[in-house]
Amino acid sequence: MAHLNFKKAHFATLCVHGSGGVDEATGALSIPIYQSSTFAFKNAKHGADIFSGEQEGYVYTRIGNPTQAALEKEMAFLEGGEAALAFGSGMAAISSVILSLCQSGDNFVSSDTLYGGTHSLFVDTLPRLAIEGREVNTTNLETIEAAIDDKTRLLYIESPANPTLIVSDIRACAKIAQKHHIPLVVDNTFSTPFFQRPLELGADIVIHSATKYIGGHGDTVAGVVIGKQEYINNLRGNFLRDLGGIISPLNAWLLVRGLKTLAVRMERHQQNAIKVAKFLQFHPKVEQVWYPGLATHPQHEIAKQQMSGFGGMVSFEIKGGRKAGEKLMNSVKIFTLAVSLGDVDSLIEHPASMTHSTYSEEALKEVGISQGLVRLSVGLEDVHDLIDDLSQALRKINI
Ligand SMILES: *Cc1c(COP(=O)(O)O)cnc(C)c1O
Repeated sequence: MAHLNFKKAHFATLCVHGSGGVDEATGALSIPIYQSSTFAFKNAKHGADIFSGEQEGYVYTRIGNPTQAALEKEMAFLEGGEAALAFGSGMAAISSVILSLCQSGDNFVSSDTLYGGTHSLFVDTLPRLAIEGREVNTTNLETIEAAIDDKTRLLYIESPANPTLIVSDIRACAKIAQKHHIPLVVDNTFSTPFFQRPLELGADIVIHSATKYIGGHGDTVAGVVIGKQEYINNLRGNFLRDLGGIISPLNAWLLVRGLKTLAVRMERHQQNAIKVAKFLQFHPKVEQVWYPGLATHPQHEIAKQQMSGFGGMVSFEIKGGRKAGEKLMNSVKIFTLAVSLGDVDSLIEHPASMTHSTYSEEALKEVGISQGLVRLSVGLEDVHDLIDDLSQALRKINI
């Protein structure tokens, strides 16, 4: 495995072998969980040399750990980046990235349709440090340009965005960012590098909530940032070290294990999602379906240009609004009523009262998250059972 040419290997091979293969120290096929807070130095000089950077080595798990390193190496390969850094959650990753690029008095421009936690970080928490998040409709390039000024330090997009699945044009956003000499940061949680590789489209930094498809089994909360080596070194050396949002070795191991099946899982998530989306599209109790793979999706053409597939998330507007949505969520038997996404299990939730309850009522309206919007994370069950389940639950709604 030491001889695998990572530049030439295909995606599914990288998923299986990209963490480095057999553990050099022991020959273990599965990377060991290095469950150790600290690492012994051979002597005083060895310790001093590692601290000064003259020798490579591990010191303390807040700064680095071999199991974390295996995950980071693999995520960098999969996204086509120079380096990666793992965090204890997607939010730890996002907040550390923003704090690494902005100081008080600065601002940044972002999508207005975001994961609910990201939105509250941008509009509630960061303003307390005098860092202003300017949320705009990033499907409109002129609006992005108009929001940038000489204190803008980055452009941040989520695409497809949670939960309406609108798509921003990553290449065009990268051009705007370059013109203003600021980095483009992309939250790639919904697509994973299997369907979309933002760095190849001109982005500078990619973020994941690895809790979702990267882990894939609903058992781990984690985040990852991918970017240039110099940027990742700074993020590790200053922001991970000082803010401390690290991933545990056990969770890093769970993600490495999850990644081994990423390619096959994503293929099946998508196959199932397309069938579910098409079933819903023609259902009389459904007003509208949001899935980037449908020709009716407003940015379907852009999605086709920048994604190799459309993922496993489907949102839809149910006739009869919130009441009908509640009836549906209380009537499903295979879909589990729960937030999070990207799991083997199919999940159903109500963005307006759950994942996006951090949005004010006006803000929800502005970004098109209506009371009747229901979000599905289509899992890996047999799709016939999923469609039967939705069908029987929709039948119970009287409108
Ligand atoms: C879940 C999610 C996050 C936050 O990640 P955590 O791992 O829950 O902290 C950020 N962005 C998107 C798109 C998400 O779905």
